[in-house]
Amino acid sequence: MTSPLRITLTVNGRPVTASGAAPPERTRLDQLLPALRALDDAVIEQAVRHHETPARRVSCAKGCAACCKAQPVPVTPPEAYALARLVKRLPPGQRRHVIAAFAAAVARLRETGLFDIYMGKREEISREAARETAQRYFNLKIACPFLVDDACSIYAERPFVCRQYLVTSAPALCADPLNAPVAPVPMPVRFASAMLATAEATLGTPQYTVPLVLALAYVEEKKEELERSFPAKAAIDTALQCLAKA
Ligand code: SF4
Repeated sequence: MTSPLRITLTVNGRPVTASGAAPPERTRLDQLLPALRALDDAVIEQAVRHHETPARRVSCAKGCAACCKAQPVPVTPPEAYALARLVKRLPPGQRRHVIAAFAAAVARLRETGLFDIYMGKREEISREAARETAQRYFNLKIACPFLVDDACSIYAERPFVCRQYLVTSAPALCADPLNAPVAPVPMPVRFASAMLATAEATLGTPQYTVPLVLALAYVEEKKEELERSFPAKAAIDTALQCLAKA
C-alpha cells in the first residue's frame, strides 16, 4: 500500500501539516485533491481557532444549508472532474436523482442565458458585471444537487469553497450574501485559487471556475484536458508553490 502524502504549509508563521491519499506516480490533477483537502481542513481549523472569541463563534452547523440553496459555488476544473467521477460511483437510485438535479439546473441556466456566460470563453469582466451575474444566479434559487435533507451528501469530498465558507453572522443572512452583512471567517490560504493556478500552470491553458451545477457539463466539454496526467512530484511542487501565493 502506498504511504499517504504528508504536506506541510506555513500559515501565519506556523506549520500546518496534514496527510491524504498519495497520488499515483503519474497523476491527474484531481488525484491531488485528497491530500489538498486534508491540508485545507487543517488550515481551516487553525483559521477558526485564530478568529473565534467567546463573543464571536462560527454559526454554521449541520441542518443549516442556506449557502447550499442559492449560491453559485464556484468549482475549479479538477474539482469538477472529481465530482463527475463521484457521481458515477453513486448507487444507481441516488445517481439518477443527482443527474436529474444537475440537468434541471443546466436547463434553468440555459433558459436565462447564464449557461453561456459561465461556460463561454471569458475575458476579464468588471466587478460590477461579475456581481450582476452572481445576483442573477442567486435569484434562481437553485439548490445544490448534493443537498439532501438540508445536509451535504458528499461532505468529505465537497469543494474547497464549501469547506472554506464559514461565518460568524446569523445563518439566515447566507441566503442573500451579496446584500446582507455576512461575516465570513477570513481564510489565510485560498485553496480554490491555488488549485486554479495549479491547473493553469500544469495544463498550460487559461482555467476558470464554474458553478457547481455546471460541473458535469464542463467535464463533458473538457474531458480530454482533464484526463491528462503528469509526474506526481512536479504536480505536487506546483501545487505547493501556488498554495504559498494564494
Ligand atoms: S457540495 Fe455540499 S456543502 Fe457544497 S453546496 Fe453542495 S451540498 Fe452544500
